[in-house]
Amino acid sequence: MRCCFEPKGNDPGQGSTLFFETERMKMKKINLLGAGGSIGSQTVEVCRMHGFGIHSAALKSNYRHLAKLAREFDIKRLCIFDEEYSKPLKDELFGSGIEILTGMEGLCALAADDNADITVNSVVGMVGLEPTLSALENGMDVALANKETLVAGGDIVMELARRNNRQILPIDSEHSAVFQCLMGVSGDKVKQLSGIILTASGGPFFGRTKAELENVTAEQALCHPNWSMGRKITIDSATMMNKGLELMEACHLFGVKPSQVEIIIHRQSVLHSAVVLSDNAVIAQLGVPDMKIPIQLALTYPERMPSLSAALSLTDYGSLTFEKPDFDTFECLSAAVSAARKGGTAGSIVNGANERAVELFLDGRIGFTDIGKGVAGALDSIPAMPADKLKNVLDADRAARKYIDDLFGVN
Ligand code: MG
Repeated sequence: MRCCFEPKGNDPGQGSTLFFETERMKMKKINLLGAGGSIGSQTVEVCRMHGFGIHSAALKSNYRHLAKLAREFDIKRLCIFDEEYSKPLKDELFGSGIEILTGMEGLCALAADDNADITVNSVVGMVGLEPTLSALENGMDVALANKETLVAGGDIVMELARRNNRQILPIDSEHSAVFQCLMGVSGDKVKQLSGIILTASGGPFFGRTKAELENVTAEQALCHPNWSMGRKITIDSATMMNKGLELMEACHLFGVKPSQVEIIIHRQSVLHSAVVLSDNAVIAQLGVPDMKIPIQLALTYPERMPSLSAALSLTDYGSLTFEKPDFDTFECLSAAVSAARKGGTAGSIVNGANERAVELFLDGRIGFTDIGKGVAGALDSIPAMPADKLKNVLDADRAARKYIDDLFGVN
């Protein structure tokens, strides 16, 4: 099975001196998709700290922020996804000579731009899948924070990465942790990896019963105990859908089956995940809950550099706890695990249903537990197809969104 650790054979760091490595990194330039979000903003901070360049940048609608970034980093190409903001962005940057694109076409063009060294995809939602494909098709490595790329398009994406000899470097803290643990394993990593322990904070509603979750508000669901993240992923964390999506991503990235991934609740979010090796040795990666370590490593791999993240004091924490998740209460989690077992477009179905249901919840149109009902219902009602064609993946996504709208009588 393909995994993101297969050797590329053209590692640019091979045989270089440490000095050369540092110089090379300083020259590193990125395409940054999703520059305005939580991961995007932290990626900008990492670039600022290390003097990395931003060749191109895209965000959804905040044209003033994009213009500001363009001036600071001397960015050559921009994509403002919502076309209506293209004119104000052009006015703002009048005379600068910066190329300004819009929509999916613009996003894909930036993703594929090989004047940069790597494409960082931190776009939120299904809209992130096609840019990843576009980057890999054009021979770009991808630092990946967009979950949908693998949840919905994993079969196509991993096959394309293998065919084009490209690397996918995970930015999510859990997958970066597994990636880091495997960095310390020599020989055939796929053969030696017998399991993954995927940690979950449990979100703001850990320990609650189903009945107690009925009347939860968006405001309560948006209060995550450990991580500061965007709105969509914070809700996914509260429903635990996030962990289900991460299980699917882990299977694609590291070439394991769903049965080889154990999800455990770890309230402190200090142990970011672990690998179980063939001799039952467990290797874990720990650190304070801060995305700057995974972001930075995705950009500097295989080197490590000083980071903006604080040092971890284990004695300040005193104890770390581990518990089993409650699959009955967190319906999204069990639906996502079932989808992972089913395979094919099941990932796209649960993802599409969830994305739409979360939108409706944030708009106050459905309740918190309706998200889980909708996701489980979509998985039961829509047949899964092979996910080896983009059309099947996108059709499944559309069918799932329609299922949610029909179920809750909205459009
Ligand atoms: Mg995560």
